[in-house]
Amino acid sequence: MTIYKNLIAGEWVGTDATKNINPSDTNEVVGLYADGSAEDTKNAIAAAKAAFPAWSRSGIWERHVILKKAGDEIMARKDELGALLAREEGKTLPEAIGETIRASQIFEFFAGEALRLAGEVIPSVRPNIGVEITRDPLGVIGIITPWNFPIAIPAWKIAPALCYGNTIVFKPAELVPGCSWAIVDILHRAGLPKGVLNLVMGRGSVVGQAMLDSPDVTGITFTGSTGTGRRVASASIEHNRKFQLEMGGKNPMVVLDDADLGVAVEAAANSGFFSTGQRCTASSRLIVTEGIHDKFVAALTEKLQTLVVDNALKSGTHIGPVVDEKQLKTDTDYIEIGKKEGAKLAFGGELVTRETPGFYLQPTLFTEATNQMRISREEIFGPVVSVIRVKDYEEALATANDTPFGLSAGIATTSLKHATHFKRNSEAGMVMVNLPTAGVDFHVPFGGRKGSSYGPREQGKYAAEFYTSVKTAYTLA
Ligand code: NDP
Repeated sequence: MTIYKNLIAGEWVGTDATKNINPSDTNEVVGLYADGSAEDTKNAIAAAKAAFPAWSRSGIWERHVILKKAGDEIMARKDELGALLAREEGKTLPEAIGETIRASQIFEFFAGEALRLAGEVIPSVRPNIGVEITRDPLGVIGIITPWNFPIAIPAWKIAPALCYGNTIVFKPAELVPGCSWAIVDILHRAGLPKGVLNLVMGRGSVVGQAMLDSPDVTGITFTGSTGTGRRVASASIEHNRKFQLEMGGKNPMVVLDDADLGVAVEAAANSGFFSTGQRCTASSRLIVTEGIHDKFVAALTEKLQTLVVDNALKSGTHIGPVVDEKQLKTDTDYIEIGKKEGAKLAFGGELVTRETPGFYLQPTLFTEATNQMRISREEIFGPVVSVIRVKDYEEALATANDTPFGLSAGIATTSLKHATHFKRNSEAGMVMVNLPTAGVDFHVPFGGRKGSSYGPREQGKYAAEFYTSVKTAYTLA
């Protein structure tokens, strides 16, 4: 089997490899991917540092052309790359193709942003002096990504980093190296100079840690768990380095008595269970007022009965497998915790077997949960959702905000008053009205508050806040 190698200083290198296993069919090896060392990471950082002066001064047309080419190739290969994504991560083929299209759109967006780089010229408060405010690229950016969005998250970090003139050392999650290798290969062939984009696949404790320990990495953008995020933060403070963290969520969706029942059920089923609940923006707490509670639970349970759990590549599958055995154990452990805590298992909770061996779990719904239970406070990151009954809107809002996280929050209501109040008072970075808490646009800011995020927002033109450093220059006329 071919080994997909790491890209360091423009050369494909690496002999040691790890198997990439399909969670829908554990007999299938998706590919062999290089297992990088701390030495490889050091070489990649040195290559990115050496490439920075030239790339930071490269023309905006060169950056535009490369990013546009990459976006076009990803779009042209969306079915093939979508199938690879579905095989390595386990989300359904339509979801995987959708994510691939989004990656292409992100490259298109930043190809456009490259042509819109601008500064400000403003008068000084002192006579005969001009002031210019410009943005410089940061330097060498370390990119560390999780397994749950194998193509979109790398795209939304790599595209702005290149657009604003930075060089990169990129470490994808070990579980899903395939899509990352593919986009690095695409960008390399699109004409990126040697050393501008370096790929080091391998273990977080080795490759990721070597990035954290290097004084030559000027900025780190990280998406993943809260625990690893904290390590990134403390190591970065040590090196006086800029960092950006996107971490977990325990996203609430409030359902009020006046909600359109169909809209509320669709939004809850989508954001709670699609992508196997493995989205940081998934709704894992459904906070439902008394008047609609029983009707809502009955309708949601009916909907869950129609959802098909099966191989991600099979047509008709709504929910693919859990990503791996470790995550499956986390999910089932939390199901046991929920039962012990006194929540009522209203649907699912069981492993299921299918034609191909994989990590299949039924969508699982707890009712009669309280907001103090561990299943309501800790991120599970699987298809496990709890329903919390509340008296009225005020209690619903207080419960929604009573969480260590603050990524996304939703409300299902036909009341303009409550929708408006919720948008203003929700302690989340993204708020959805009559929409799933997951599912966001690619051209507007993405990120959260509290324990979910740290640092500037990602995506859209707000991405410049992280990938550049502002410079103020004064000139005597
Ligand atoms: P992890 O934190 O385990 O891993 C994230 C990345 O960090 C991986 O590439 C991992 O490598 C790497 N890593 C692990 N240890 C270290 C280390 N010591 N130093 C540097 N890097 C390291 O998260 P998961 O991949 O398990 O992703 C799931 C989590 O990500 C969930 O909690 C989820 O909520 C969160 N997430 C948040 C999002 C957001 O935008 N807020 C979006 C998506 C996910 P390796 O692959 O080898 O483990």
